[in-house]
Amino acid sequence: MHILVTGAAGFIGYHLSRRFLEAGHTVVGLDCLNDYYDVQLKKDRLKQLEPYPGFVFAQLDMADDAGMDALFAEQKFTHVVNLAAQAGVRYSLKNPRSYVQSNLVGFGNILEGCRHNGVQHLVYASSSSVYGLNTAMPFSVHHNVDHPISLYAASKKANELMAHTYSHLYRLPTTGLRFFTVYGPWGRPDMALYLFTRAILEGKPINVFNEGRMRRDFTYIDDIVEGVVRVTERTPQPNPEWRGDAPDPSTSPAPYRIYNIGNNNAVELGRFIEILEDCLGRKAVRNLMPMQPGDVEATYADVDDLIRDTGFKPHTPLEQGIEAFVRWFRDYYRM
Ligand code: NAD
Repeated sequence: MHILVTGAAGFIGYHLSRRFLEAGHTVVGLDCLNDYYDVQLKKDRLKQLEPYPGFVFAQLDMADDAGMDALFAEQKFTHVVNLAAQAGVRYSLKNPRSYVQSNLVGFGNILEGCRHNGVQHLVYASSSSVYGLNTAMPFSVHHNVDHPISLYAASKKANELMAHTYSHLYRLPTTGLRFFTVYGPWGRPDMALYLFTRAILEGKPINVFNEGRMRRDFTYIDDIVEGVVRVTERTPQPNPEWRGDAPDPSTSPAPYRIYNIGNNNAVELGRFIEILEDCLGRKAVRNLMPMQPGDVEATYADVDDLIRDTGFKPHTPLEQGIEAFVRWFRDYYRM
């Protein structure tokens, strides 16, 4: 495969690019290296990818129409995995415009590039946050009653709707992946595991939202990567459930799928912190806080479809994954 991985300097994009390169594929890693968090961390991830002969880095903003058109025309990708996005639920309350630019304008350029250049399969990151006020547990893509409660979540839901349109109109095979709270080595500095680890090691208090009672389906990075690889290799088949989307019922429905990739296990934040304390050999000072606007109380992934279609079930235990993160963190920051 000749693959475009967008967000290749990001947490998931870095791990995924590395995995594709190790399997012998060629990867163009695109990233604008925005300063949402520490740019040095992004550059250090890229340094790990540079030694692979099959890797080329393109510093480009996905919202740059002309730049994106030129890249697609020149490279003739067989597969595209779109991970670049303005991430973060809380940040979207204060900086809505960056979500519109990257997640909507940028994603529009990805769809156009795929459509006009014969891309065989577009895989793109969606998010567990699209479920929003949906409280039916575990979260299933078949419930289809999502009510996003942040602009971040809304932009991810919009990506799914845009992808469906392109699958339907232009027969572009697309698969959306709703990731559930991803963690692991090289993880994001704005996320709980990183913030808690740093604060505990520095002897500072940690902010514990919803007083530690919220539940998250924490998913280890290697499981996410395995899921994405298996999905990418498999062209989505038209989904018979969605036959109604074809104007003529005799025509086949769109080659369009959505999967959850989560650990299928909702863990209380309080328990998550206890495991981290054990790994660090130190106690946290907890600053108990109320629920934050835009946050949901629980996430919990139904992964039956993923297992049925790819034979893969995320399985890394939290203890093992947190330990791997702590090992990386201590080594990288010499703490
Ligand atoms: P990340 O922020 O580490 O990586 C995203 C990368 O995209 C960054 O390096 C950033 O510089 C780049 N980027 C942003 N806007 C861009 C633009 N307009 N043009 C080019 N590059 C741009 O995030 P991540 O955790 O690796 O997440 C990857 C994807 O998975 C995102 O789409 C995110 O919304 C989604 N996701 C992540 C999680 C999680 O827990 N990490 C959960 C659900 C969904």
